[in-house]
Amino acid sequence: MRIANLSGRAVLLTGDGAIDVHKASGGALSSEPQALFEGWQDAWPVLTALTGEAAPYQESDLRAPVPRPGQIFAIGLNYRDHAEESDIDITSLTWPMTFTKFASCLTGPHTTVTLPEGWVDWEVELVVVIGKGGHRIPVQDAWEHVAGFTIGQDLSERIGQWSGPAPQQFSLGKSHPGFGPTGPAVVTLDELTDPADLAIGCTLGGETMQDGRTGDMIFGVPELIAHLSSITALEPGDLIFTGTPAGIGATRTPSRFLADGDVLVSTIEGLGTQRITFCAA
Ligand code: ZN
Repeated sequence: MRIANLSGRAVLLTGDGAIDVHKASGGALSSEPQALFEGWQDAWPVLTALTGEAAPYQESDLRAPVPRPGQIFAIGLNYRDHAEESDIDITSLTWPMTFTKFASCLTGPHTTVTLPEGWVDWEVELVVVIGKGGHRIPVQDAWEHVAGFTIGQDLSERIGQWSGPAPQQFSLGKSHPGFGPTGPAVVTLDELTDPADLAIGCTLGGETMQDGRTGDMIFGVPELIAHLSSITALEPGDLIFTGTPAGIGATRTPSRFLADGDVLVSTIEGLGTQRITFCAA
């Protein structure tokens, strides 16, 4: 099942188009995408039985599938090759490095993002959507708490991110307006051959920048859910950006950052593709 946000309304995407879940459920399900995920455990059985006529739609009308999560967790240095390019010794990593992206930065999968001043970089990431909340979730139960996955770009302005005596500006540097493209849809795990190992990558102007596999994460999805929930209660509709593989702009020689007119295309196996265009302020 592929659940999307079409001009602010929750829809199921099929090969033929989009089915409006509020109308097709006779009003049983909310038209609001965020409310759908916050009530995921009740919504899921209704969604699986839903039938209705699919209508054609424009990709440009797709918005962030989970538009206002109560919490967004983001994980740094969660792929070996990215930790290496960042000169971090991962043998010292005993806990996932955690920060946030503020919800106002979320945007849709086919949109234009205005570049702030600074060095704006890309990070394609698997994003976990929480469907069942919990505190101290055991690792063996963690998959049951996942509603689905979507694609995310953890866009990052590096000068702001790295400023200060300690990296306390991480969350701000990654939360400019438009810095959280997500979508095109939240895909439930039954659609994926192996939810623990998906091809992930992005291209800039047609040139491959990142090309990895989610199976190479240092802390996999169940471990992230167990670690985060060991401290903070997770709630339905929360997002977890799970980290990026190697190939960001800052560690290239010479370094490369996003510029006016650039087109960034991000793909994860089974989840689809998002295409973001950048423009100067
Ligand atoms: Zn990231």
